[in-house]
Amino acid sequence: TNSAYDANNIFAKILKGEIPSVKVYEDDDALAFMDVMPQAPGHLLVIPKIGSRNILDADPAVLSKLLPLIQKLAHAVKDAFEADGILINQFNEPAAGQTVFHLHFHIIPRHQGMGLKP
Ligand code: 5GP
Repeated sequence: TNSAYDANNIFAKILKGEIPSVKVYEDDDALAFMDVMPQAPGHLLVIPKIGSRNILDADPAVLSKLLPLIQKLAHAVKDAFEADGILINQFNEPAAGQTVFHLHFHIIPRHQGMGLKP
């Protein structure tokens, strides 16, 4: 079974303003900011303000607000970075590659012919 939500994780600290981030969108429910180690230029992270460890323990009501925002940001990133495609990644638990334990979605611009790994 998985651990509980840690309110001192790095994205919780970003939400509290305790560590800096390059914010690109914010509303009452969510924040989007640039990934500090982008897989491609324009790589964003989208997080809900309510803490959950990942999608497995998230409130479905939180999830249902996030997807339309992810769609909007995917369009914005696609336009801003003239991307041919948009990769949306989301990892749950270390076995699946999760390293920060506050639910987040990656939005990553992709360009035709660039390959999936930079
Ligand atoms: P994941 O848990 O989805 O595998 O990876 C976490 C993501 O968060 C990585 O892409 C990593 O570059 C990003 N990340 C980790 N620490 C920070 C940070 O302090 N600030 C920002 N903006 N991104 C971070």
